[in-house]
Amino acid sequence: MKLVRSYLTKNPCYTAGDKITVKGIMLHSVGCPRQDAASFVEEWNDENYDRACVHAFIDGFDGTVYQTLPWNHRAWHCCSPGNGDYIGVEMCEPAGLQYTSDFTFTCEDEETARAVAQRTWDAAVELFAYLCRQFGLDPLSDGVIISHWEGYQRGIASDHEDPEHFWKGLGLDTERGFTMDRFRQAVAEKMEDAKPLYIGCHLSSAGGFEAMGKAALSIGANTFAFFTRNPRGGKAKEIDPADAEKLREILTKNSFGPLVAHAPYTLNPCSSAAKTREFAHMAMADDMKRMEYLPGSYYNFHPGSHVGQGSEKGIEMIADLLNEIITPEQSTTILLETMAGKGSEIGGRFEELAAIIERVHCDEKIGVCLDTCHISDGGYDITGGLDEVLAEFDRIVGLDRLKALHINDSQNPAGARKDRHACIGEGQIGLDAILRVINHPKLMGLPCILETPQENLTGYGREIALLRGVHYDE
Ligand SMILES: [Zn+2]
Ligand SMILES: [Zn+2]
Repeated sequence: MKLVRSYLTKNPCYTAGDKITVKGIMLHSVGCPRQDAASFVEEWNDENYDRACVHAFIDGFDGTVYQTLPWNHRAWHCCSPGNGDYIGVEMCEPAGLQYTSDFTFTCEDEETARAVAQRTWDAAVELFAYLCRQFGLDPLSDGVIISHWEGYQRGIASDHEDPEHFWKGLGLDTERGFTMDRFRQAVAEKMEDAKPLYIGCHLSSAGGFEAMGKAALSIGANTFAFFTRNPRGGKAKEIDPADAEKLREILTKNSFGPLVAHAPYTLNPCSSAAKTREFAHMAMADDMKRMEYLPGSYYNFHPGSHVGQGSEKGIEMIADLLNEIITPEQSTTILLETMAGKGSEIGGRFEELAAIIERVHCDEKIGVCLDTCHISDGGYDITGGLDEVLAEFDRIVGLDRLKALHINDSQNPAGARKDRHACIGEGQIGLDAILRVINHPKLMGLPCILETPQENLTGYGREIALLRGVHYDE
């Protein structure tokens, strides 16, 4: 689903700002032959457009959802009390439609009309499933998902054009089963294949494992990252097996996603200094043993900086280290992080990651962690073309390698190669693009780790809540 937020900030429904407790979602069909949602968004964004508003329009050309009001704003539509406690969603209709009454029409291009109906149906199913999850609604419960016409029968909408009239007029009720009952069913099915959002941030390991589990729960996280040892290097603390056991209990009981441990920043397998390379070897080998206390987790590291030795040499040295460290018995998957490509960093190009992976013998133990700030800084424009970036990743590395995400905004525009993280929505990537990342069907279910410059856990708790969808409520 492509969701674009385009609030009708001048419309009285927006400015009145009345709030509702969302009881259900009403599906409308616009009732006039205009396929492009943007034209409605423009027209309805008017201070004189009184007593008419909905929360979203679905475009007839490409199924894009334009969210026009925060979901919990009151939007009244067509009659008082209008949509009441319902979210209202309009599907655009094909250009060739000619209404002969409120419920009947003629159509000059049925093929196009059917394509529009299919597209808006598909987008509406996804949107409704998403909203039902957000608001804890059961799509099959009486009165939760209703059409405009059903709303009329319940005294909360007028008696004009309606999705079922539209589908029926095109013969799609019999041909494709487009009815409200089938729609509700389709939404319920869509909700079943949805994957949870695993999200968290870096937590301090100073208080031990159980303390991290409790900290995660306190901020609404269901995954997290932690440094296996001092991020600047040094020796790791002894592990207390009973403490690890307590964390494992918390993780299972609360259905956490995989954890994403982080190697120290000083770990550089392709340094020109033998001492630094030895530290990389020692630290990673030791960390692999320690990670077995949290089986099935990920272990993320910055591939390294070749410091003038050339990326080919660097790639070789990184792969050599991995081949020495990885054992077929380990349950940990090691993740190469995508980098911004500053200085002599390796991993700024997908090709470099692919070249490392190609050289690793035990390749089922190796994956990639994609950092949104880093790849944007590295020149992959996820704000302008997420699908293209993912297609490129798939072609070069393979999306099956992608195991985790670092969710960060960037202080700099795409291609800046700076690696300066920003809080979500406060950087050059922007909230909408980040939302598309976490909701992308190819990325859903991957653990998402925030590495934003928040000052404390409360700040991360707010960001987690924001990304869990509360932002749609404002
Ligand atoms: Zn990162
Ligand atoms: Zn970074």
